[in-house]
Amino acid sequence: MATAADRVDLDGRPIKPVTICMIGAGGFIGSHLCEKLLMETPHKILALDVYNDKIKHLLEPESQSWGDRIQFHRLNIKNDSRLEGLIKMADLTINLAAICTPADYNTRPLDTIYSNFIDALPVVKYCSENNKRLIHFSTCEVYGKTIGSFLPKDHPLRQDPDYYLLKEDASPCIFGPIEKQRWSYACAKQLIERLIYAEGAENGLEFTIVRPFNWIGPRMDFIPGIDGPSEGVPRVLACFSNALLRHEPLKLVDGGQSQRSFVYIRDAIEAVLLMIENPERANGHIYNVGNPNNEVTVRQLAEMMTEVYSKVSGEPALEVPTVDISSEEFYGEGYDDSDKRVPDMTIINAHLGWNPKTSLWDLLESTLTYQHRTYAEAVKKAISQPSSS
Ligand code: UDP
Repeated sequence: MATAADRVDLDGRPIKPVTICMIGAGGFIGSHLCEKLLMETPHKILALDVYNDKIKHLLEPESQSWGDRIQFHRLNIKNDSRLEGLIKMADLTINLAAICTPADYNTRPLDTIYSNFIDALPVVKYCSENNKRLIHFSTCEVYGKTIGSFLPKDHPLRQDPDYYLLKEDASPCIFGPIEKQRWSYACAKQLIERLIYAEGAENGLEFTIVRPFNWIGPRMDFIPGIDGPSEGVPRVLACFSNALLRHEPLKLVDGGQSQRSFVYIRDAIEAVLLMIENPERANGHIYNVGNPNNEVTVRQLAEMMTEVYSKVSGEPALEVPTVDISSEEFYGEGYDDSDKRVPDMTIINAHLGWNPKTSLWDLLESTLTYQHRTYAEAVKKAISQPSSS
């Protein structure tokens, strides 16, 4: 482990160890961030969450060199009076807690809005009142649809980056109508971003806002019927992994024409660590964190995952690996989609010198190796057992 003495920030100053209050530490991003902080830095973590399954391996102090640098507090920020005290004990708060699964946005819009706006309010307030720095996790979905999506299908300007590239300080946020409840999430996230920004402007809150662009990797979401509800619909990586594990065709919503750029979680976590350790550079800013070089349509993602899974599992791919499904049938009424999400990297690159490294093929290879190792046996067992009544 690096010691406090030999670590310097981007301006060559020694990095002082800090205590971080990490809300939502037990989730996908939190688990990777905790791992990174414990293994490579001297910082301490107050890990807050309702669950800790994904960080269990970090909480057994006897066998670990980081010993007492992580402390787990099981609590729900909705209704726990310990929250302010924990924020006060820390130098920095990182808020990762949120509902962020598209299947919920149109089916549980109230929970989505409460979780992403109302529940985040006390966190912002306590940070502001106690002069504590806040790193808040937002989403690339605040951009909504691209300007180009309103042009005719084969209009040449659709290929012009001015019509699709998403820039923190220039792009508008374009959401669909209210009855398309998909946008309840983006709208709640946008409002909390605006509130944090206003706290910075009016009350001097030191903040950094992160907009993740499809971060993927091991421990993301759940496999339905194995470590999550069998009727649950996780995000695309877990949906496609589940189908591959069960030897079923991958479902392409509305033909799989939407485009996404995927970034490996381990690359993205490097960016967060730079924000944590360079507050003077990162305070007051919003950062896209994604990989513009890994852009594919969802259909291309399905094809690549099928090929990679066949390689890592040694099992032949299905003859017909995908099947089309309407969004109404898959997600229900009120679903809508972001057409294309390519992050502009200018700001994060200029401030923090960060660039993603891992290609889509490589990140899928390591992620699907993990999925196969973790779930293949359990899925086989579940398939062979008649479902209980
Ligand atoms: N999608 C799909 N099949 C699935 C799950 C998702 O075609 O089994 C599509 C979904 O409609 C969207 C994209 O994959 O266009 C990414 O969905 P995800 O749930 O990962 O989240 P998003 O990127 O939309 O926030």
